[in-house]
Amino acid sequence: MSRVQDSVKCEQCGFTEAIFDFNCRDSSWIVNCQMCGYCEELTAPKDDAESWSHKVNHGFGALYYRSIGAKAFALHSLDSLESVGKAESWLREHMDAEHIEPESVYLTRWNEAEKRIDFLIGGPDRVLYHEAWKIKQQCPAAFFAGEDLQGDDASPR
Ligand SMILES: [Zn+2]
Repeated sequence: MSRVQDSVKCEQCGFTEAIFDFNCRDSSWIVNCQMCGYCEELTAPKDDAESWSHKVNHGFGALYYRSIGAKAFALHSLDSLESVGKAESWLREHMDAEHIEPESVYLTRWNEAEKRIDFLIGGPDRVLYHEAWKIKQQCPAAFFAGEDLQGDDASPR
């Protein structure tokens, strides 16, 4: 494995489980917050002429979902209010067409004035559902029979 994933505290919203993805080959890394959409990236130079690049994208919101039949979840960090609006109409359309697992979805908007997360679709329980799913993949033994958070009908608690 040339990549390692861990959790870090988000600089913008303070969520403690923001995704930290480290590339062991060149020491590049990226932080993606699945709560507010904050994104920070350190990119290694491709050759000697280039220098390290450090980019910080303010988060305007985050979209998280899984398509029906897909194995992986999709996370989109939204970098403008306009993209939050677009994500919402895209999501409603695909939920109506039943392309997306309804229990997997959430869409947030960062509330700059109040410094908090507003859930436009779904709620904090969905974030916990994803975290529980991740933990289960990494350590199935942590879940005992009858405490399976996904359950047979894949519905979150
Ligand atoms: Zn955040």
